[in-house]
Amino acid sequence: MMERAQQLLQDVFGYEQFRTPQAEVIETLLNGQDSLVVMPTGGGKSLCYQLPALIRPGVAVIVSPLIALMQDQVSALSQWGIRACCLNSSLDYSVIAETEHQLRAGGMDLLYIAPERLLQARTLDLLSECQIALFAIDEAHCVSQWGHDFRPEYLQLFKLRERFPGVPRIALTATADERTRQEIINRLELTDAERFVRGFDRPNIRYRIGQKDRAKEQLLKFLKDEHPKDAGVVYCLSRKRVEETAEWLCEKGYDALPYHAGLSPDLRNHNQHRFLTEEGVIMVATVAFGMGIDKPNVRFVAHLDLPKSVEAYYQETGRAGRDGQPADAWMVYGLQDVIFLRQMLAGSQASDMHKQVERQKLEAMLGLCEITSCRRQALLAYFGENEHAACGNCDTCLEPVPVWDGTEAARKALSAVFRTGQRYGVTYVIETLIGNRPERVVQLGHDKLTTFGIGKELDKKQWRSVFRQLVARGYLSVDAEGHGVLQLTEKCRPVLKGAESLELRKDQRKQTQYRRSQVP
Ligand code: ADP
Ligand code: ZN
Repeated sequence: MMERAQQLLQDVFGYEQFRTPQAEVIETLLNGQDSLVVMPTGGGKSLCYQLPALIRPGVAVIVSPLIALMQDQVSALSQWGIRACCLNSSLDYSVIAETEHQLRAGGMDLLYIAPERLLQARTLDLLSECQIALFAIDEAHCVSQWGHDFRPEYLQLFKLRERFPGVPRIALTATADERTRQEIINRLELTDAERFVRGFDRPNIRYRIGQKDRAKEQLLKFLKDEHPKDAGVVYCLSRKRVEETAEWLCEKGYDALPYHAGLSPDLRNHNQHRFLTEEGVIMVATVAFGMGIDKPNVRFVAHLDLPKSVEAYYQETGRAGRDGQPADAWMVYGLQDVIFLRQMLAGSQASDMHKQVERQKLEAMLGLCEITSCRRQALLAYFGENEHAACGNCDTCLEPVPVWDGTEAARKALSAVFRTGQRYGVTYVIETLIGNRPERVVQLGHDKLTTFGIGKELDKKQWRSVFRQLVARGYLSVDAEGHGVLQLTEKCRPVLKGAESLELRKDQRKQTQYRRSQVP
């Protein structure tokens, strides 16, 4: 049967050979066994079920949350001469009736369907009348309540096992820390599934995380120096910032387009189409852009704001360099990002448990930003790959981060927060540390404090760097109400008592520019 698979790979899909672990996954399905496939975006997950769908008798049912992309997939498959269809609420009744008819007649190889539709009694009855080749559950991490793509309907998919015994199921995802993996197995009842996990390393992507100074200017310099004519994606947190940035880049002579959920579907489609089909277009977007986008020659992904988690960072940066050629993952972040995300989290309506998980994810992301050793190593370790050596292709490898003994500075900073009553934001506290006497400081009598003016050895920017690192590492918390008030945490105690010393990053004043030829 694997010979048949190899033949179809070439004849139908036009590929020379399988990528790892496609062949093994396909064999497992052909043997009628369940499987869980974890592969990075662009790794080639679709083929793992598309090919068996052609070999096993009956129709393969593909569960996907992305209704918008179903039609694209069906069209693409049809071009290869594969009989594929989809069922969703956007279709006319007559189309649905015709599709159902074909399914009953056994004239389909693949059926794409959203989970809520699949789980309707009517659909399940329809499928009971058909021969089912396999069930593929795409984007399986949607089953995880802690993930950012949680879909309640996914929780019901375990029912497929009982309703269609003997039909192999394959769950696929690109996002999986061990915890999510386990959750997929439990919730979908995939206890006996074979697991296939392909490495997460994307060696051609160069990771760089710098300090935010004047973000747009920094971006402009990066584009000018390194990607004057390349296609890329610039991620921003808010719609407003997306629009501003896109407009500004256009003024500077770049072909930049905005993309966010607030734009009309027509405009979104238009912009996406231009990005995919033309050369050198820059997409400025919120995270709404990207799922299912397959453009091989994206040369850079830039972040002007901090992603909420390492998973999100990995997924977004992973859209660069799918063709295997050198690509950049470039980001700038600063104190305000940390404060902003912390506040959003604290102010959200989510349950305490959920907030706790989100907080941990943000901590991990901050950890990655502040790390002084290899970024790739840390990134891969986050996904459970601990065996990697320093990569030589990230900023911390290319240019070791200078560190300094920040114990004394940290103590001064923390004391100043304490002495001013834990009621002020970072800008104000820095004024007192440096010993400035604006009206407010004098009015409040803070020029009389023992901590007043004890921090003259550093300038404002350096103090901001100290505060950023203290917040990022959890020595200081930021209030939820949105005023940016700094407060001490339990973690400060040993530092204040002099029992713990702190090594801090020395932030680079200048952004280093790397040349392509430096890629190993
Ligand atoms: P994923 O779903 O994992 O993000 P896809 O299934 O969309 O990835 O595949 C990503 C790209 O890789 C597609 O352009 C696909 O055509 C290509 N691809 C998949 N398998 C192979 C293969 N064996 N040989 C060459 N290209 C492949
Ligand atoms: Zn490295």
